[in-house]
Amino acid sequence: MAQLTPMMKQYLEIKAQYKDAFLFFRLGDFYEMFYEDAKLAAEELEITLTGRGQGQGEERIPMCGVPYHSADQYISRLIEKGYKIAICEQVEDPKEAKGVVKREVVKLLTPGTVMDGNQIKEKENNYLVALTCFDDQTFGLSRADLTTGECAVTLIADFEEVIADITGAQAKELVVAADFSPDLRKRLEEKWPLTISVEEKTELEPEYADLCAELSSDKLVQSVARLVNYLIRTQKRSLAHLQRVRYYATNSFMKMDTHTRRNLELTESLREKKKAGSLLAVIDQTVTAMGGRLVKSWLERPLLQKEAIEERLDVVSAFISAYFEREELREQLRYVYDLERLSGRIAYGSVNARELVQLKRSLQSIPLIKQTITAIDPKLAARWFREDEFIEKLVDLLETSLVDDPPISVTEGGMIRDGFHQELDSYRDASKNGKQWIAELEQKEKRETGVKSLKIGFNRVFGYYIEVTRANLHLLPEGRYERKQTLTNAERFITPELKEKEALILEAEEKMEQLEYELFVSVREEAKQYVTAIQALARAISEIDALAGFAAVSETRRYTRPQFSPDRRIHIVAGRHPVVETVIPKGQYVANDVIMEEGREMLLITGPNMAGKSTYMRQLALLSIMAQIGCFVPADQAELPVFDQMFTRIGAADDLASGQSTFMVEMLETRYALTKATENSLLLLDEIGRGTSTYDGMALAQAIIEYIHDHLRAKTLFSTHYHELTALESSLEHLTNVHVSAVEEDGTVVFLHKVVDGQADRSYGIYVAQLAELPEEVISRADDLLRELEKDGGQAWQRPSPQQVGEQLSLFAEAAIEETAATTERKRKPSRHAEKEEAVLKQLREKDVLHMTPIEAISFVNEMQRLLK
Ligand code: ADP
Ligand code: MG
Repeated sequence: MAQLTPMMKQYLEIKAQYKDAFLFFRLGDFYEMFYEDAKLAAEELEITLTGRGQGQGEERIPMCGVPYHSADQYISRLIEKGYKIAICEQVEDPKEAKGVVKREVVKLLTPGTVMDGNQIKEKENNYLVALTCFDDQTFGLSRADLTTGECAVTLIADFEEVIADITGAQAKELVVAADFSPDLRKRLEEKWPLTISVEEKTELEPEYADLCAELSSDKLVQSVARLVNYLIRTQKRSLAHLQRVRYYATNSFMKMDTHTRRNLELTESLREKKKAGSLLAVIDQTVTAMGGRLVKSWLERPLLQKEAIEERLDVVSAFISAYFEREELREQLRYVYDLERLSGRIAYGSVNARELVQLKRSLQSIPLIKQTITAIDPKLAARWFREDEFIEKLVDLLETSLVDDPPISVTEGGMIRDGFHQELDSYRDASKNGKQWIAELEQKEKRETGVKSLKIGFNRVFGYYIEVTRANLHLLPEGRYERKQTLTNAERFITPELKEKEALILEAEEKMEQLEYELFVSVREEAKQYVTAIQALARAISEIDALAGFAAVSETRRYTRPQFSPDRRIHIVAGRHPVVETVIPKGQYVANDVIMEEGREMLLITGPNMAGKSTYMRQLALLSIMAQIGCFVPADQAELPVFDQMFTRIGAADDLASGQSTFMVEMLETRYALTKATENSLLLLDEIGRGTSTYDGMALAQAIIEYIHDHLRAKTLFSTHYHELTALESSLEHLTNVHVSAVEEDGTVVFLHKVVDGQADRSYGIYVAQLAELPEEVISRADDLLRELEKDGGQAWQRPSPQQVGEQLSLFAEAAIEETAATTERKRKPSRHAEKEEAVLKQLREKDVLHMTPIEAISFVNEMQRLLK
């Protein structure tokens, strides 16, 4: 490489420390990027890539830049895409620098550490998580949301659960050790792509000991330390606003893996990845951002303790029976700003005067809220507003110190109220009097000189001046003013008294700004002592908002309070799918019962495509989740167990969203469910076995059903289009057939969406094709084929022998799992090929060749060849 300029050397030195981030290198009014950074940034930000010379005959260095004053928007865009950005500033005055100006990275911006900007969504937490892998194969997982100061930590034994936890929290960034297993990393990123960062140190700095005061084990502290050390190293700012780390036990919540959460569309829809179409969108009727975040986090962790669930349900009940008070309450909550994030900013020292006024307004609305809740139930008010004496003191401080509508900037004055500080008032008087004096002077000079257009102006260079137009200059008595500046058609003058006043005014104003800033900072500091109290209040408000929202949706959608059965019984009368019922025309949703008890712990669901099998299954899962987060449920009656875990598995052919719909994945997922489920779990297996050939699939499906039946006894809904499986009912004690009915009317099928006991008589796939308006020719041909197949049906499928079932089950054995999908494919090929040949021969035998046109014959042969390939 040729000689680098000293500045480029400096660049490369700094860049070497921030390899995984864009280095925004300050050069005058721009942040510049070079080399690969520049190329990538130019692409991602759609800005022009230029070059910088580095000596004669050398290639130019790729370079691009963004203006300093509009850098925020570019930074936001990069962060949103999951990148990190190191901001490198000039840290000495260029005028005083000898050689290259000294530069340093002053902060590192990452997806998990941003505090404001577009990436921060109101109703979402922004989690940074740190993962620590211990020698005994356990994992410490800590998380923090810098915008609210929330911190939590847990220990997990199973990596799948680690993934579920990270996905559930929708974490943006993960901090790990440098030697973090690439294997685990890959497993995680397949399910949840996020920004990965490295931090080695897991010793807690003594100064942060208090954060971990409530943690009982060394592993937990180390897990938190990794997170905190990462923040200290990269953020270069105070972390005083972090709240004490809370320990959460993953086994005090219902477990759901990533697949299940996604599939049930709890917080976002499968296809669009939007909140619309999710359960959250239906039950989140909150009016504050804090409440919205809480509902989301509840959905992430449904409860297991009945008492805790009932406690929430009791509140929802109380809110439902007090319609007017509740609606009034929700109206009052609208005036509460995001106290959680405001308190974060106060503690952090980044709050401005306008936000403090928002805090004041929020606090001022609390007494009214408390009053309304007291009217609903005094016990609730006592629980939520236990320590609220601070409110009055803080409101008083903010009310007396800050004006009603302060500017966002904290350095330009205009924030502090008159009467708050004597010295400030006297400066203000001085400035006001000075200006008054000048206004009077203008009048006086006009009068005395007779120049009506004479005016007194101000600019930053010359200060105050008297301006007289050229045409009027002759009216001025000689020597009245001192000449200062000549313009094309006017002259500007000063007088000694004017300058004297000017000095007074300017001095007062400068002092005012300075003093206002100091006063503001002291108010801000004083507010800091209330941070813990504000956070507690924020929690109360979020809870009130979330539960009042549950009450509102429960009432409008006619939900019912769930009962928890001690004997694992499910008894749902007229249940509805909470989301589907909102998207189809009103009144068209067909409610369904779900009865699962002794003798019917497993339901085998058959019925035509599009009949409503998947909807029925998910409905049960969603109702259970709603019940366990303390919401009423869409049904006339609902008796449910408390489920410890929930698994949803969808046949690969149906699972469009996962992107890797291989049969292998389907089987791996199924294995996981089968190894983890207990008799207190809920299993939804939707068309499992569909991802492989018919007999294979059927055999597997049966084997799986038998396994669950004999070993797990988990409540299971199993939907299938293999009608042959319904025969299992007679041999499996706890299995019952149900089907979604459809009737045929004038050659078309009408789906009744009604689930009834017994098995479906046939599949209606062709009718669905007809509904979809496939060409008539295709429909009638399919009809013919079906009739033919049905002729020799029945013999084709025989229950597999126990030995066969055993073979299929070996798929669940570790060894088989290791085998790649590709080898599985190869092994099975001969039999599939034989099947194909058989089909082709059959068609050749039966084809009516004499009635074919030549073209038809050619295309027939062509088709047969294709089938054989
Ligand atoms: P399957 O799994 O049997 O193929 P789905 O459960 O996917 O069928 O349902 C297909 C469609 O039928 C749904 O998208 C929904 O619009 C409608 N549907 C399902 N269940 C009901 C119901 N109970 N009432 C009204 N419409 C329903
Ligand atoms: Mg389905």
